[in-house]
Amino acid sequence: MTATPPAKTSSASTHQALLGTLKDIWGYDEFRPLQDQAMTAVMQKRDSLVVLPTGGGKSLCFQAPALRRPGMALIISPLISLMRDQVMQLHRSGVEAGCLHSGQPQEEAWEVRQALAEARLKLLYLSPERVALDDLRQLLGPSEVSFIAIDEAHCISMWGHDFRPEYRQFRELREVFPEADMHGYTATATREVSQDIVDQLGLRDPLVLRGSFDRPNIHYTAMPRKRAVDKLIEVVRRHPGQPGIIYCISRKETDRVADQLSQKGFDALPYHAGKDSEERIAAQESFINDRTDIIVATTAFGMGINKPDVRFVVHMGMPKSLENFQQESGRAGRDGLPAESVVLHSYQDVMTWKLVMSEAPPEMQRIANAHLDKMYAWCNATECRRSLLLKHFDERYPADNCRHCDHCSGGFVPVPDSHTVAQKILSCVKRLDEAHNAAYTTDVLRGSKRRAILDAEHDKLSTHGLLHGESREAVEDWIEQLRANEFLAAGEGGALSVTRRGWEILRNRKIAILMDRTSKPAKGPEASGDLTSDQQQEFERLRAVRKELAARDKVPPYMVLGDRSLHEIVKRRPKNLIEFSRIHGVGKRKLNDYAEPFLDALWQRQSRPRFHRSEAEIAAKKPDAYELFDLNVPLEAVARQLGLENREIERHLTSYIRDRGLTDATLWVPTDLAEEIEAELEESPDGRLAPIKKALNHRATYLQLRIVQACLRNRG
Ligand code: ADP
Ligand code: ZN
Repeated sequence: MTATPPAKTSSASTHQALLGTLKDIWGYDEFRPLQDQAMTAVMQKRDSLVVLPTGGGKSLCFQAPALRRPGMALIISPLISLMRDQVMQLHRSGVEAGCLHSGQPQEEAWEVRQALAEARLKLLYLSPERVALDDLRQLLGPSEVSFIAIDEAHCISMWGHDFRPEYRQFRELREVFPEADMHGYTATATREVSQDIVDQLGLRDPLVLRGSFDRPNIHYTAMPRKRAVDKLIEVVRRHPGQPGIIYCISRKETDRVADQLSQKGFDALPYHAGKDSEERIAAQESFINDRTDIIVATTAFGMGINKPDVRFVVHMGMPKSLENFQQESGRAGRDGLPAESVVLHSYQDVMTWKLVMSEAPPEMQRIANAHLDKMYAWCNATECRRSLLLKHFDERYPADNCRHCDHCSGGFVPVPDSHTVAQKILSCVKRLDEAHNAAYTTDVLRGSKRRAILDAEHDKLSTHGLLHGESREAVEDWIEQLRANEFLAAGEGGALSVTRRGWEILRNRKIAILMDRTSKPAKGPEASGDLTSDQQQEFERLRAVRKELAARDKVPPYMVLGDRSLHEIVKRRPKNLIEFSRIHGVGKRKLNDYAEPFLDALWQRQSRPRFHRSEAEIAAKKPDAYELFDLNVPLEAVARQLGLENREIERHLTSYIRDRGLTDATLWVPTDLAEEIEAELEESPDGRLAPIKKALNHRATYLQLRIVQACLRNRG
């Protein structure tokens, strides 16, 4: 078999065409990093593997080229809720897409099959179990497959963290569709896993793209868990009425925290595997639809959730690895607006996770412990959190100060003379013969005269009372910092001992720095967005409009327009549809569906006043009218916008059709009717419209007749 090589498209024109699609369909003005290259690979039919972090914009990498290439793209995705979410979003943007998965309502599946039979779809999403290779061709009917996209591609690799055996069959898709190119997308792939994906999928000379794992809009904070609920409430207060996720390690804690928040008047629901599925679905739906601000959950929550406007993620306990942390905190701020991640941690969490793992095979425990150690060290680090996190993913952060973590934004301050403080603690541990735990050591250092200490005559030690006057919380936290930095170790029953590194401090060979972590970090992250308080109020008003529109259309509010779009609306205050069309996230379809209610709310009006217009005034509106016609805005809306009567706008439309040389009347006239009118016009000796209108029993308006006539003339 010989294959013709794909025609080489100039990359500049591909770039422009893709940008056009981005603007028309999604209302975005620019590519996110690597999207351009990823989309170009698809346009050039070159296999590819794209590794971008959560929120990096992977789905657009295959959606946009799918619209530009002839035929239909097959998208394989393992999470049904995400798949449905994407299809719903595509529909919102006016794209023909469908999905097939098991457990789907019959009627819905039937509609998709109908669309397949008519070869109408640009994208078909399939869940892995729907990819029964034997009858796939038949299922697709006359639809030609342009390319195959494998989402969550790491599931094919046993080295990854989420291996799914059913992914292994996708390699054979190549044989079923030899003409289709193939592309993998994932957020979690070390270099080792990337190579494995390439091998397992049998990608041919693929373009491998790896994005940065930095999430510049996320502010990171980690704090000891003392007074956890107070600290939590402080975070929540920074985000009034905004969506947030709070992760807890145990189910019990999940319920307790949700209760505490509710009692304080916050709008929070619990979510964990112990709830029945109805309750879980209800909580999830309520969160997605902006009816509940906060979800308190175990870490399973969020897997199938695309909500882009989550403003904060709080971990009430330490995550079990930096990978988990990256993924979970990454659910904040997918829309690119400011968001924050806060971890409340304690050494106790390390013990809890170890207990959870205690039944696992030794090899797995070893790996899990290594993950825990790294996570614990990150929590207690005194350097920039972002650069440490990136270092873990083999990336180097280019600046010394990220200005977006507790350390870089001047959060915790070093304890005065902290090296001496550290020496006092370490020598006390020595004097206590390395046989006592943190609480006891703290009491001795603070000069406690409690019974046990007197009985052991530890009040006679030279280190007794060395940290007299310091709070218990502070001393305990310093001990924790020394342990996290491996100057101290904790053995049986928590008994502290001085490590080799610790000895270097006692001998002044190394300097210890302790941070004051008992006071809250001096500075939190900047408030989300940079709206003035008036703008904030306006934003809330638009948010309410969005919620109504979403309820009307039965979609989550973020599918109507994202927060970033609403921010732009309140800042730029578009006056009309043309200005509105320039707002981020407003494509042609959304302009039609949503611009007017938002404009009305923004300008707080019911309908605009009508004036008498002169001929000159009508003529002056022509360029604006043309621009709106280009955007496919319906006639009535154009008339309202420009303050013209319907019949005045009609004149502009017929000349628009003539000037633009348009030949397709079905943009304005239903297809059947257009065909009938056309037939009558072709029969007509003189092209006079009145007899034709009569012949059609007045089912067509004069405008419709004129439109079809103009199009017909353009065809010659
Ligand atoms: P991922 O699948 O990589 O986690 P998504 O594809 O869900 O990320 O994209 C995250 C969010 O970013 C979505 O709301 C998406 O519409 C938005 N987005 C994607 N590409 C762009 C872009 N070029 N400009 C603006 N927003 C974008
Ligand atoms: Zn930093």
